[in-house]
Amino acid sequence: MSVDFDTKILGIDLGGTKILTVVTTSQGKILSTIQNMTPVKEGRDAVIKSILESATRVIEQANMVINDISVIGIAAPGLSNPETGILFTSPNLPGWKDVPLSDMVEDKFGRKAFLINDANAAALGELYFGAGRGALNLIYVTVSTGIGGGIIINGKIYTGSIGTAGEIGHMVIDVEGPSCRCGNRGCWEALASGTALAREATERINAGESTSILKRVNGEIERINAEVIHEAARDGDRLANELVARTAYYLGVGLSNLINIFNPEIIIVGGGLSNMGNMLLKPAIKEAGRRAFKQAYREVRFAVAELGRNSGVMGAAAYALEKLSCKTGIR
Ligand SMILES: [Zn+2]
Repeated sequence: MSVDFDTKILGIDLGGTKILTVVTTSQGKILSTIQNMTPVKEGRDAVIKSILESATRVIEQANMVINDISVIGIAAPGLSNPETGILFTSPNLPGWKDVPLSDMVEDKFGRKAFLINDANAAALGELYFGAGRGALNLIYVTVSTGIGGGIIINGKIYTGSIGTAGEIGHMVIDVEGPSCRCGNRGCWEALASGTALAREATERINAGESTSILKRVNGEIERINAEVIHEAARDGDRLANELVARTAYYLGVGLSNLINIFNPEIIIVGGGLSNMGNMLLKPAIKEAGRRAFKQAYREVRFAVAELGRNSGVMGAAAYALEKLSCKTGIR
């Protein structure tokens, strides 16, 4: 099958809280989209059933049948092998181990399916259809509850020898730093993610610092999150501004490492914390400039992700398209 203007792709983004499915053209025009909750608590089989149902419905909703679909792309959180389509483990999907996800989807639909990590997918989504169009060397950084990423080298996603590359959130920034959920210490995401920001706020409030943050969550300290801290910072709260500045500082340290290692032409920042915009990104980029090689820093562009909630699902579709093109030699 060849890739042309009429190629239709089924994209699936399996998240810890939602399953997003689309039918899209090879040009990135979304023809149909469905979002469901992920029944994580009901276990693996229920989640897979839900994926298959959602995919069936999204094809129907586009007034199509499965024969109209050329290829299927699946994005999933956690560690997976894109060559075998096996999802090893995922922090967002407890109990999942070595699940042959792409085979399961292929068996149902009789179409080739390709699996890719969700952050790698998002990088591809931005490369094909978003802020990274036309770039060859791109790093995508998503900053939300954790930090994830995708590395595009010479126009191709770099997935490593068994597919687990791009875990930029777990580069160590501070060897004595706070523990990370991966078991290590001082990882980038343990210092610069939304979770790190909320944890730091909680610690400083517990230590007695005065701030409007507590009032914003009606005194329920466990409700403190990055969004509330952002609002407080915008309203001039001193502690909130200090916390955002601290996050920006660590974000910048990590960005400088990425610039020095990869010499990218563009770094795209997505995820919930990118909504803070310049308040967070400006000082982070400045800090990166203080640390990175000047020549590399001068040439790198910074951009905010354009695809929002669709980055993973469109990236999954782009990945499937890329795999299909490899076979047919087009692109
Ligand atoms: Zn870690």
